[in-house]
Amino acid sequence: MDIQMKVTALPEAGFRTVSSNENIPIFVGKGNTNYVCGNCENALCENVDVGQISGIKLVCPKCGWQNEFE
Ligand SMILES: [Zn+2]
Repeated sequence: MDIQMKVTALPEAGFRTVSSNENIPIFVGKGNTNYVCGNCENALCENVDVGQISGIKLVCPKCGWQNEFE
């Protein structure tokens, strides 16, 4: 199951994508849920459990938008 994350902020000025890392999820677990960027649908968390990660914001390495868990 894919869950689209909630976009909370635009990219910061001067943000540059890191092309070598843009397709690598920030978190990889052993659950059955993928969290994808709310803007570009890049996978940020792969195979995690719902609720496993909370209270943090993730900056998408591909588009630079900030995402948070709902
Ligand atoms: Zn993105």
